[in-house]
Amino acid sequence: MDDFEKIIRDTYNDICNGKNIGNVADYIPELSCVDPDQLGVHIHTIEGNSYGYGDYQTKFSVQSIAKVLSLSLAYQIEGDAIWKRVGVEPSGNPYNSLVQLEDDEGIPRNPLINAGAIVVCDILVSRLEDPKADFLDFIQDCCGARNIGYNNKVADSEKSVGYRNVALCNYIKSFGNIENEPDEVLDFYFTMCSLEMTCEELTSVFMFLVSSKYRSQQNNKILNETKANRINAIMQVCGFYDESGEFSFKVGLPGKSGVGGGIIAVHPEKYTIAVWSPRLNKKGNSYRGMKFLEQFTSATDSSIF
Ligand code: GLN
Repeated sequence: MDDFEKIIRDTYNDICNGKNIGNVADYIPELSCVDPDQLGVHIHTIEGNSYGYGDYQTKFSVQSIAKVLSLSLAYQIEGDAIWKRVGVEPSGNPYNSLVQLEDDEGIPRNPLINAGAIVVCDILVSRLEDPKADFLDFIQDCCGARNIGYNNKVADSEKSVGYRNVALCNYIKSFGNIENEPDEVLDFYFTMCSLEMTCEELTSVFMFLVSSKYRSQQNNKILNETKANRINAIMQVCGFYDESGEFSFKVGLPGKSGVGGGIIAVHPEKYTIAVWSPRLNKKGNSYRGMKFLEQFTSATDSSIF
């Protein structure tokens, strides 16, 4: 048993016994059906150890966590040309905000807010023969698992009320930064967000962002060193929307949240860790997920700072 195993178990027990406040993301009707009091945690270390507690083998809607994976695939295909279409600055605004797009002339601040992720989806729709299937293949290549898929009910549910994302896509198109028809881009965006994974699958998929030593051992050619570092840098400053500073301050790791209540965090030299607890705070990030990670990195002294 290493330190991580004991600390993750103790932290899990503490968080389980503590307060659980906030609401599930009911603006997507299908997500309001999820039992809000589930809690899963899983860690995957560079030595190949893996420990999970609670509901770590239950699939959940990863939502915006998928934006990191679509960005990684687009970066792999497109290289640095991608940064002509989307920036790398924290937005300081909610994930679904429209306000900066007018000043920025349709170039979203970063790829982890909805506006930026929609531009990334447009790039993938242009470049891939079958974006939905090819995106799944990419994820499955990252971890070797074959049973990762979308939840069409969740995608349809979001599509039926996704007026803001429709507005974002149309607005960006009016500036010439969307090449394809908005319906096609949004269909891919909603489907991508409906991706379902367990905490255990997430930690395994995200190992491509951990240390080059690990990547070469695994013969993992998903992204080269520079590109992987840059994805981590973007997560560090943009992964939690207008709560990115708070996450960086309290947890000290690159990470990404989703409104399904999941958070993935990457220690670039040591491990990936995933937490899932569906109740969200006011900024749309998992209430217990944030608490768990703050406590875990403090107890293991593994903030990267
Ligand atoms: N699909 C969600 C949306 O577009 C993703 C948001 C999130 O997870 N922050 O609103």
